Amino acid sequence: MQLSYDIYHPFVADSGATGPSVVITAGVHGDEYEPMTAAFNLIEKIQGQVKKGKLIIVPVASPDAYRSCSRLGSDGLDLARICPGKADGTGSERAAFRVSSLIKKADYYIDLHTGGKVLNIYPLSGYMLHASPEVLQKQQWMAAAFGLPVVWGTDSALNGRTLSVARDANVPAIYVEYGGGDPFNDTVVEAYVAGCLNILAGLQIIDDTFKLNNPLYWVEDNTPDKGHLQSKMPAPSDGIFIPTVKPGDIVLKGSGWGRIIDLAEKKEWRIETEEEGMVLFQRCTSFVHKNDALGGVLPITKPGKIQIV
Ligand SMILES: [Zn+2]
Repeated sequence: MQLSYDIYHPFVADSGATGPSVVITAGVHGDEYEPMTAAFNLIEKIQGQVKKGKLIIVPVASPDAYRSCSRLGSDGLDLARICPGKADGTGSERAAFRVSSLIKKADYYIDLHTGGKVLNIYPLSGYMLHASPEVLQKQQWMAAAFGLPVVWGTDSALNGRTLSVARDANVPAIYVEYGGGDPFNDTVVEAYVAGCLNILAGLQIIDDTFKLNNPLYWVEDNTPDKGHLQSKMPAPSDGIFIPTVKPGDIVLKGSGWGRIIDLAEKKEWRIETEEEGMVLFQRCTSFVHKNDALGGVLPITKPGKIQIV
């Protein structure tokens, strides 16, 4: 069993026994520190525990973005928009190629994220509404098993993502989002380690008790582009953003989301909620630029499961 890894080479634990192959990535965005720490902790915890199949963990998918302390690499590229990347491209393109090559060969794939420096996200497991019922069912199982309160299935049309590579290769895949902004939040790390371990237990890759989790809110929404957070609720102006809601709140359409005050122009904008539902994420920087996403709503107002087609 090979246990070594470094920032450019994944951790690989191959049991040699028949079983599924699972790939876990963190650090697709270089400013998401809790996922990278969770992957690191998982590697330490899992050593010698893989009894069936194979586990591959990539703690820092984009070393260049990590070194830049940035969502993007120093080439200005977002790894999650350029998959499957290029073997002989820029730093981010090569990183996307390395990760994509691993995902294509996996039987299950988990991608760990947060809102980075700018968004605070309510804990969720997400997947693409895959055309194959078999792949979709496995994704639904993974998303629930991860144990976060929200499960969110969105349309499968987005390209360039790690999940797009998984979709095209018919590999069941989920991404998870939880928190973001400073300071570092150890609760996220613990939830991510527990979520990964539960899926590995459910797949019998490790000998551990599998816990059947029931998500609080489960939304499957096939409306085009719903899964794209960065385009939601664009700021009308540069200025100081003063929010009045927080992730997890239930809001009504047209109710207040916050204010933006532009001291240079001596203007103030009231930000209103575009639809009723649960506050899924919110901008967590005090200063915003015009068109920055100020937040988004999950179209559900009470615990349960809904489908929007
Ligand atoms: Zn991310």
